[in-house]
Amino acid sequence: MIVAAGRGTRAAGPLPKQYRRVGGVPILRRTLLAFREHPRIDKVRAVIHRDDRALYDDAASGLDLLPPVDGGSTRQDSVRLGLESLESLGPSQVLIHDGARPFVSAAIIDRVIEALTGASGAIAALPVTDTIKRTGPGASLISATVDRRDLWRAQTPQGFRYADILAAHRNAPAGELTDDAAVAAHAKLDVVLVPGSEENVKITTDEDLQRANRSIDAALELRVGQGFDVHRFAPGDAVQLCGVRIPHSHGLEGHSDADVGLHAATDAILGALVAGDIGHHFPPSDPRWRGADSALFLRHAVDLVAKAGGRLVHVDVTLICEAPRVGPHREAMVRRLSEILGLPTGRCSVKATTTEKLGFTGRGEGIAAQAIATIRVPEMQ
Ligand code: MG
Repeated sequence: MIVAAGRGTRAAGPLPKQYRRVGGVPILRRTLLAFREHPRIDKVRAVIHRDDRALYDDAASGLDLLPPVDGGSTRQDSVRLGLESLESLGPSQVLIHDGARPFVSAAIIDRVIEALTGASGAIAALPVTDTIKRTGPGASLISATVDRRDLWRAQTPQGFRYADILAAHRNAPAGELTDDAAVAAHAKLDVVLVPGSEENVKITTDEDLQRANRSIDAALELRVGQGFDVHRFAPGDAVQLCGVRIPHSHGLEGHSDADVGLHAATDAILGALVAGDIGHHFPPSDPRWRGADSALFLRHAVDLVAKAGGRLVHVDVTLICEAPRVGPHREAMVRRLSEILGLPTGRCSVKATTTEKLGFTGRGEGIAAQAIATIRVPEMQ
């Protein structure tokens, strides 16, 4: 049973923390998967906040789970409601786990289950290794050093014989016992500790979220791709460059809107994915792409990165032409690239150069563009 009914007020942001993403995947989905994929877990049910159903459906899409149930106003209430909802299934044992602990390992789940053969309850926990201080009123002046030898940090999963923990919750004092082992202890159940893990963190603050993203990133490989494109000048009164329309003495010839900058960026991302080129995905022979906004092509490439389980890190485009002058439009181009790519402007670069009147760009016959894209993706063969 995954407890995910909290509102996550300690982490800033528009979403409850269990629905925020680490490495592009909602935290709750990672947690649900850890249990769904464990061979000794028969059924998985989440307890959610009633306002979060759409978020839950998105996070849990495609997973084979029991339908979620609504929680209550405290964690303790939510767990009791979740336990009640399982009664008709007649489980012998239940593991209760925080939705915001996505990095629980199969080994921890195994240890909790195994310990249940000899006790009513078993929880993952870690010894306290820091020296513990007690403070007086005002919380800055130390009043004592606490002996840490018998102190443990409780994690989840916390596993119990189902009938015992259901009864314990039904008889628990109303209020806020902050974990199920405390509810079990109130009912005088025997609860043992098994080793948890430092990896099994509860993502509570923005700092936790950033740390989790860094550790996910460390498991992704960094890929770089490059793209190059040219379009020739043709009669017209404006060119489209990096998604921005610039009045000019000529237009650019092409099947789509002939945006060389976006085409080079698209090919750079496709190159990093080893996913062919823009002509392969959007054949010039296809009438659908006549006059198309090239933002479509670039978004498609960004979607492919997400589908591969990766994310775009950075794009750098160089426009090569004598005219029009790019400088006055560069900020608008960066803003437009950032919108299309879903990246902060600090990760979108647009530069321009001439070729000193040399070559076809120097003679004003057309515009060329080069781009580099950096992505992080799971290791691909
Ligand atoms: Mg092109």
